[in-house]
Amino acid sequence: MNVVSEKADLSVKTVSHFISGQVVAPSNDRFKDIFNPATGEVTGAVALASVEEVNSAVQAATAAFPSWSEMAPLKRARILFKFKELLNKHQDELAMLITREHGKVFTDAQGEVVRGIEVVEFACGIPNLLKTDFTDQIGGGIDNWNLRQPLGVVAGITPFNFPVMVPMWMFPVALACGNTFILKPSERDPSASLRLAELLTEAGLPNGVFNVVNGDKVAVDALIEHPDVAAISFVGSTPIAEYIHTEASKRGKRVQALGGAKNHLVVMPDADLDRAVDALIGAAYGSAGERCMAISVAVAVGQTGDELIEKLIPRVESLVIKNGENLDAEMGPLVTAEHKAKVSGYIEAGEAEGAKLVVDGRVHPVAAENGFFIGGTLFDGVRTDMKIYKEEIFGPVLAVIRVPDFASAVKLINAHEFGNGVSLYTSDGGVARAFTRQIQVGMVGVNVPIPVPMAWHSFGGWKKSLFGDHHAYGEEGIRFYTRYKSVMQRWPDSISKGAEFTMPVAK
Ligand code: NAD
Repeated sequence: MNVVSEKADLSVKTVSHFISGQVVAPSNDRFKDIFNPATGEVTGAVALASVEEVNSAVQAATAAFPSWSEMAPLKRARILFKFKELLNKHQDELAMLITREHGKVFTDAQGEVVRGIEVVEFACGIPNLLKTDFTDQIGGGIDNWNLRQPLGVVAGITPFNFPVMVPMWMFPVALACGNTFILKPSERDPSASLRLAELLTEAGLPNGVFNVVNGDKVAVDALIEHPDVAAISFVGSTPIAEYIHTEASKRGKRVQALGGAKNHLVVMPDADLDRAVDALIGAAYGSAGERCMAISVAVAVGQTGDELIEKLIPRVESLVIKNGENLDAEMGPLVTAEHKAKVSGYIEAGEAEGAKLVVDGRVHPVAAENGFFIGGTLFDGVRTDMKIYKEEIFGPVLAVIRVPDFASAVKLINAHEFGNGVSLYTSDGGVARAFTRQIQVGMVGVNVPIPVPMAWHSFGGWKKSLFGDHHAYGEEGIRFYTRYKSVMQRWPDSISKGAEFTMPVAK
């Protein structure tokens, strides 16, 4: 990573760390620029934590754990209820922080905040969620029940593309379960995390229960290596997810590492084509394709290909692309100049490999502006051996691939190394049922383009889209953030005399 203490403009705001209930001044001179992607201007500098700074956050979280974990779940829930009220009040302020550092359009950012709030609403039910099974009288006056206990200090490492929602997939559930938390947000849009920390404090969260360390690989490695960090939740690109899963597992930590994606939308011949086109436009170009659930491949089954392309072209060409602070914007810029160059590189590669470049976002007038804009791009005639099919582009680039029938569509998707999300457009219930059962992907939509599960279900992909055993939030989140314990108990009046040398069985 390009650490830029020389380049960072410290005359603008500095985003530092939040430890033990307050913002703390950085204690080293490593910083990185924060940009407004719509203007290309530097708007701040984010402090990059040293190992010592991470250690002090772990120390604060460790000190806060005994009393927080002993607090009645109902009392923890009351703090989360208050936090939810504050989130409602500051919803637009948070959305604007997202738009100014990430670039996504304001209305989309508002939706992101709402999806985060929904996880808080789920976590507010923690007294009920921690209720466990009890079996009375398994035999001889013995009862058997379960406990779900918190893990201790847990850490979350999050990507740039959902600076509010993805941290909130993690910490509301982790805190509700009685853990203390350290968030290491993306260094590209870090401001929202500090605002969330302030709101949690205002809601009455005791100091040290939630901490934020900003930073890069140094901070991430320090969290992985710290013996007092019990678990790591990671969301980001697949190579880093694999690295974190390996390194954290090696050190005996519980880890869930959600990675990248290549999501297909299958258009069956019996689908309502206009609805499928609407779905593709929103899901491929919304948030400039910087969503792990974005659709980046349209699979045209049978004879649908030509008509699909015909209908897509004018829609891609007429996308309203501008600074996301404008309420009529449909698509904003990419997050950084480097990312724009990477996406352009993929378009170049697709052309070089022989895909048909139907709409070229590089020549859109918006691409000449100072912000990190690129137009929507559409490829036809894409093959499975092409780089633009195999790899995640994470930009507004849609590839159309044609297959003869349903079975070929399923085979194609199942052969891809990613398995995050997938969607099928059809009006045939039997086909839909076969698809949901046969497809090797973690999140499936039928006539739904972006099937992000609601807060009380759980989010996660298969194959190289998730490393670890648990999906995020919902019931899976409760399981990830708690340790299961079984208790068997009897009282002296039911204890029979004498040692037993055989395996105990119910009598
Ligand atoms: P990224 O992997 O570059 O960064 C994610 C986090 O890892 C950041 O906090 C970053 O600081 C840290 N990091 C980066 N390089 C590191 C290194 N070498 N060692 C240790 N830590 C490092 O991802 P990104 O570009 O911020 O986000 C986009 C990616 O995230 C895409 O691949 C997208 O698919 C994925 N994503 C996945 C999901 C999901 O649920 N599966 C959700 C959102 C985003």
